[in-house]
Amino acid sequence: MIKRFAQYYKGHLPLFYLDFTCAFLMAGLELVFPSVVRLMIDDILPSKNLNSIIMTGVGLLVLYIASAALQYIVDYWGHVLGTRIEYDMRKDLFNHTQKLSFNYFDNTKTGHIMSRIVNDLNEISELAHHGPEDLFIASVTLIGSFIILLNIHVPLALITFAIVPIMLGYAIMKNKKMQATFRQMRMKIADVNAQVEDSISGIRVVKSFTNEWYEEEKFESGNFSFRESKEDSYKVMASFFVGVSFFSNLINLVVMVFGGIFVYYNQLTPGELVGFLLYVSMFMQPIRKLTTLIENYQKGMSGFARFVDTLNIDPDIKDDPKAICIEKVKGEVEFDNVTFSYNNRENVLNNISLSIKPGETVAFVGPSGGGKTTLCSLIPRFYEVDKGSVKIDGIDIRMITQRSLRENIGIVQQDVFLFSGTVRDNIEYGHIGATEEEIIEAAKKANAHEFIMSLEDGYNTYIGERGVKLSGGQKQRLSIARIFLKNPPVLILDEATSALDNETEKVIQDSLFDLSKNRTTLIIAHRLATIKNADRIVVLTDEGIEEEGTHKELLEKDGIYTRLYTAQFDGFM
Ligand code: ADP
Ligand code: MG
Repeated sequence: MIKRFAQYYKGHLPLFYLDFTCAFLMAGLELVFPSVVRLMIDDILPSKNLNSIIMTGVGLLVLYIASAALQYIVDYWGHVLGTRIEYDMRKDLFNHTQKLSFNYFDNTKTGHIMSRIVNDLNEISELAHHGPEDLFIASVTLIGSFIILLNIHVPLALITFAIVPIMLGYAIMKNKKMQATFRQMRMKIADVNAQVEDSISGIRVVKSFTNEWYEEEKFESGNFSFRESKEDSYKVMASFFVGVSFFSNLINLVVMVFGGIFVYYNQLTPGELVGFLLYVSMFMQPIRKLTTLIENYQKGMSGFARFVDTLNIDPDIKDDPKAICIEKVKGEVEFDNVTFSYNNRENVLNNISLSIKPGETVAFVGPSGGGKTTLCSLIPRFYEVDKGSVKIDGIDIRMITQRSLRENIGIVQQDVFLFSGTVRDNIEYGHIGATEEEIIEAAKKANAHEFIMSLEDGYNTYIGERGVKLSGGQKQRLSIARIFLKNPPVLILDEATSALDNETEKVIQDSLFDLSKNRTTLIIAHRLATIKNADRIVVLTDEGIEEEGTHKELLEKDGIYTRLYTAQFDGFM
């Protein structure tokens, strides 16, 4: 883990060395001051030499100016170093998250992912900068003052050091507890994050059910747990601080009394005693600072641990080293004995074999939960088949790079996702870098141009988060325009019009019909009237493919399809 952390310094070695050198010099300079005090009391003051007093002042001034300059470098460039490391890590994490498979997103709360990318790494910059630096300064101060103390007076130094282990033991014990509470705290705040994400993105549902109270209650319990864990950690921290302060005061007391006795017997000068006391408090500094250090370390490291956890999650679906990059395919799609289950649970698809010719339109019907969506999501390889294979133009899709595979496939779904941004941004998403003319042409083909022009800023209209400012039909038309622009040879329409009213559905059916021309098209439709003209209709149930044929053929067969069709037709009358 530490090794992995250290790797992030590699890109910033000059800054790292600069920060370290300055921190080292600063710690060294700090060790000078008590000696100056001692010199002042024992030698300069008794000699009654005004010049020496002023010279000492001048000397100290130079020292302080130098120290200020060093501190500026450490404070500014040190934090720059930390921030750059945090930036690198966040970038790595986000980029990695983009590569993860659907399986990961199906099973991870968005709020937790956000927590990892945003909050967890916040503390990293502090640790990245202060961690090694503080450790280093602490060692310099500890060793330096230790040697100086021994030099001033060996017996007194030994008495002092005898108490230190007790204090250290106490500090270490309390620290362990503190670590546990910090870890707890991180987990709780991630829960709060997840809760907020859920409630806010579902705010329309919340309000329509007037379940604000329920959301408040759920939030309350998470928020309360977080509060409790934070209070716990302050409790442990308080007893830590109190203990450490008390012990260091105790050490001062011991030095004062024993030192006083040594002065009384003329074994120690008053200046030496004052110097000793100052060095002792300097010696204690790192131990007192241990809390902040460990707190930083804990916060940073638990964030970093989760960062590494996520980085270590392998995308389930990876490009084969020998995978090829395909150009535009003809559009032959073949399922060869495909068996599939989500996470090795019950099989959703069993030995499905189906071959679709280039340009053919195949409709899938069947009971909800029968696996239609699942079957289609295997074509862009959103999930990996357990057995059998999916082929495009006769090539197993596992031997095609995901990117070039997905460039050949367009999907229109029932719940359209649009990005916050303008109308143009959202259409352009189909082919980033498309020209204005191409975008407008795509919008026209999708029957979207007219309504776009009637919006207040036309193509520059902001559509709100997820397109909340548009109607369902308008959103769907944008998503269709997006696909027109992408122009893929294989098209999947998954209940694309199910959420729309009849009137809107008809208009969109027209654009979908245009869209499906000259492409291999798989349609999943709820309303069977919309798929009558498909080249082939496949009835998919839990049992697999039960019936297959044209509308006419299936009606003649008088099987499941006929039953579904008449049931729906009756329903409409
Ligand atoms: P259809 O589109 O025919 O209504 P689906 O393909 O959506 O059916 O679902 C088939 C089965 O797979 C259902 O039992 C559903 O609960 C399950 N399922 C769908 N998506 C997931 C998923 N992401 N993770 C786990 N199970 C899923
Ligand atoms: Mg479905």
